[in-house]
Amino acid sequence: METPYLNSRLQDFTSTIFADMSALAVQTGAVNLGQGFPDTDGPEEMREAAVEAIRGGRNQYPPGPGIPELRLAIAEHQHRFYGLTFDPDTEVLVTAGATEAIAAALLALCEPGDEVVSFQPYYDSYAAGIALAGARRRLITLRPPDYQFDPDALRAAVTDRTRLLLLNTPHNPTGKVFTAAELGCIAELAIDRDLIVVTDEVYEHMTYDGVPHIPLAGLPGMRERTITVSSAGKTFSFTGWKIGWVCAPAALVTAVRTVKQFLTFVNGAPFQPAVAVGLGLPDAFYADLGASLQGKRDRLCAGLATAGFEVYRPAGTYFVTTDVRPLGYDDGVAFCRELPHRCGVVGVPNVVFYDDKQAGASLVRFAFCKRDEVLDEAVARLATLRPRA
Ligand code: PMP
Ligand code: GLN
Repeated sequence: METPYLNSRLQDFTSTIFADMSALAVQTGAVNLGQGFPDTDGPEEMREAAVEAIRGGRNQYPPGPGIPELRLAIAEHQHRFYGLTFDPDTEVLVTAGATEAIAAALLALCEPGDEVVSFQPYYDSYAAGIALAGARRRLITLRPPDYQFDPDALRAAVTDRTRLLLLNTPHNPTGKVFTAAELGCIAELAIDRDLIVVTDEVYEHMTYDGVPHIPLAGLPGMRERTITVSSAGKTFSFTGWKIGWVCAPAALVTAVRTVKQFLTFVNGAPFQPAVAVGLGLPDAFYADLGASLQGKRDRLCAGLATAGFEVYRPAGTYFVTTDVRPLGYDDGVAFCRELPHRCGVVGVPNVVFYDDKQAGASLVRFAFCKRDEVLDEAVARLATLRPRA
């Protein structure tokens, strides 16, 4: 149904699955493994730093690009973990979460009618951001269990209208971590066709079993054409603070900042110093985060397998994708609508992340960024499921 007053570009985007499913969880009292947000707060020293910043009067507009101490901390983080060097004054921009960074990059770089090449399934804001910019998406399908892509198909998706590539690694909702070879193939194409790549690396610190996260900007020839996006929401478990950032060459940061300044102008004054504290935490914090989530992944994957799901074990992120066909459903949306009533658990149907509805029809995503007892309760409830006749 058409939504009155809303422009035609956004008619397909009137609700988000995350809000819908969280509302269903509240309404039914179900365990919410749908929307990806942790159920515990991040580091105490960051909460204290935010409180102190509020008490200390850091409550007015911060500088447009973000406070200097946070931009420095972001640049130092890129150097500490990846050996990448960014000038904190010209090559780093603080944004209202990764969501704003991505939308601002798309609005800054695309002309109406331009094409953006990306993968499906895709994080939901990508399609909306591309639509806001009046651009069109061209998608390569990643299929379980490996979610590999055909380099020729990727090459063929690039046309004269292609303005940029939009990549997400580690990848939501599949949990895929792009390999060095896959990133090399993307880099080669970007260089060959002179494309900018926006790379969404919000789950950069969530990879498992020793699989490394490889930042695209570190590949030869890529630093000058890559806009790297990340977010404190994920790494520090403060999704509500909405502090994200962009690292890119100065000319690209200037373009993104030009849009950002008219979307939000600035954001999160007292949270910015707190995120700077977080980025400075010792390596042990980051290692513990990965180890803890790997345990949670194993806990939920085992429970889902026992309950009868086909489980595609993720190498990264805090999501696991399953296929619900062994439980007698072809349709993940119907499954997710019934699940809270059948056993008191909420998941997200992956089909909402696809244009090719067939490709994602029977896939359902569960989030494991929850306390162990919550995961155990969800697993116990899921164990009562019986395949539908
Ligand atoms: N990209 C991906 C892949 C995500 O999963 C999320 C999660 N919300 C975001 C971007 C948005 O991040 P933020 O909350 O910082 O806007
Ligand atoms: N990124 C989170 C997820 O994939 C949700 C963010 C949101 O609700 N927009 O579940």
